[in-house]
Amino acid sequence: MMMPYPSNQDHAPIRECCYNAARKRYGDEVPEAVASRLEEELQHILRNGFTEPYMIAARIVDKAAADGYMMAMRGSVGSSFVAYLLGITEINPLPPHYRCQECSRIEWAGDDVASGFDLPNLLCSACGGEFVGDGHRIPYQMFLGVDGNTPPNIDLYAAWEYEEHAKNELEFHMSNRVWKRTIPVPDIIPHNDESIMKRLHALTGVNPRSIPMNDRAVLSLFRSTDALNVTPEQIMSETGTYGIPEMGIGCVRDMLRLTQPASFSDLVQISGLSHGSGTWEGNARERIQAGTGTLRTSLACRDQLMMELIQYGMDSESAYAVTASKRKDLPVSESIEAMLQSKVPAWYLESYRKIEYLFPKWFAVSYVISAVRNAFYKLHYPLEFYAAYFSVYSVHNDDADMELCTQEGDAIRKSLEEIQHEGYHPLLELALEMNSRGLRVKKAPSSTGDRYRIESDAYGSLEIPFMPNQQGSRLISRE
Ligand SMILES: [Zn+2]
Repeated sequence: MMMPYPSNQDHAPIRECCYNAARKRYGDEVPEAVASRLEEELQHILRNGFTEPYMIAARIVDKAAADGYMMAMRGSVGSSFVAYLLGITEINPLPPHYRCQECSRIEWAGDDVASGFDLPNLLCSACGGEFVGDGHRIPYQMFLGVDGNTPPNIDLYAAWEYEEHAKNELEFHMSNRVWKRTIPVPDIIPHNDESIMKRLHALTGVNPRSIPMNDRAVLSLFRSTDALNVTPEQIMSETGTYGIPEMGIGCVRDMLRLTQPASFSDLVQISGLSHGSGTWEGNARERIQAGTGTLRTSLACRDQLMMELIQYGMDSESAYAVTASKRKDLPVSESIEAMLQSKVPAWYLESYRKIEYLFPKWFAVSYVISAVRNAFYKLHYPLEFYAAYFSVYSVHNDDADMELCTQEGDAIRKSLEEIQHEGYHPLLELALEMNSRGLRVKKAPSSTGDRYRIESDAYGSLEIPFMPNQQGSRLISRE
C-alpha cells in the first residue's frame, strides 16, 4: 500500500531524507508497516523539536564515512528507525524480515524469528536477487518514551585518532544553531573498538559492514575452540572468544560455555544477561542448569520484557511502566503490579522480581555486531586481528606484560596460572591463543622504531606500532 507522502515544508529535510532512504531499501511504494513505524517516530520527533540532533549526527557520520571512518551509535537513539534510515545507527528496529537488494521486495519473518540477522541466506522469490535479513524488533517507546517526548540521547563512538576531527565537525555544525536547553547535544566518545575496526579494514581490505552475521564457523567461536584448530587445554578456554569485545572475560566465557549460543540473537541474549544485574546468577543460570529454562526464554533485555508483557495481554502503557522500572530499579504502582500478577506465569514473575537492572536491546545488538565482526577477522585473518588488537590495547599495559607475551606457549600458560589471582590478563591470554595457532609476539629490531612485531610462518609478519597518547595514526604495514 502506498502511504501518503507528507509535504509539510517546515519538516521537509528530515522527512525527505527518511523517505528517500526507505524507498531505496523497501521500494517506491513504502510498505505500510514500514511507513507506519517511520511516521510514528517522525510525528514525535517533529512535535517535540528533536530534529536537529538527528540531522547533525547524520552529517557527522556521513563526513566520517567520507574520511574512511566508521562511527558506532551508542545512545538510546540506537533503536530509532529514523536514525537507521539517516545512517546514524546500523540497527533496524523493525520486526525481522528479508528485503531484496535488487527489487526491494520485503518478506516478514515469523514471530519465532528473534532477529533478521539469524535468517538463512536466500534468493528473492520474485527476481532471484539476493535477500538481506534485517530487523531486531525494538519498540519505539524504548527511546522516545510512551508519550514520545523523551529527548534523544546520541553518543557517537569514534576511533581514537578520529576523535578530534569528529569533535571539530560537531563544533562546526553547532556553531550557528540555537539549541533548546532540554535537548542533549550529541556527544563524540573515543573508543578502542572503532580504532581496531579501522585497522582491520585497512589491513585486510574487508569492509566490516560487509561481514555476514549468520556465518556458522564464525558463530562457533562463541561456544567452541574447534574452528581455531586449537584445544581448550592449549588455550585454557572452552570458547574461542579471547580478545572479542564483551565476550572474552572469564564470567562471560562461563555463560557461553553453559548456554552454547548458536545464532546472533542468542548472543544478544548473552550480552543482555551479562550487562544486567540480577539477570544471570540466581536467575537465568539456575533455570538453564536445571533444564527448566533456555537462553532464548531468559529475560535478558528491557525491550524483550516490554514486548513479552504485551504478548501476555498487558496494554503497552503498563508494559512500558513495568519495563521502565528495570532501568533504575524503581517500584511499579500497585495497579500495574496487580495486573502483572494476573497476566504472567509464575516463573516469569519470579524471574522479573529478581532483576534489578535490564540492559537495553539496542546496546546488546550493537555490542554483538562488533563481537561478530571481530570474530570473523580473528578466524579468517589471524595475523591482522592480533596485530590490530595489540596495537590498540598494548598502550594500556606496561612493558612487563608485553615481555610475558613474547614467551613460548608453555611459559605463557605458566605465567597465566601464576598471575591469575591478580585479575584479568587479556593480552597474555591472547598471546597464548596466538602461540597455539602458530603466531608469536617478538621483539622488533631496534632499527624499525617499533618495539614488537607479530610473526608467523604461515601468515607472514606485521609490526605493532604503539600509539603514544592514543593519537598514533600510523598504520601497520605488511613486511
Ligand atoms: Zn527481488
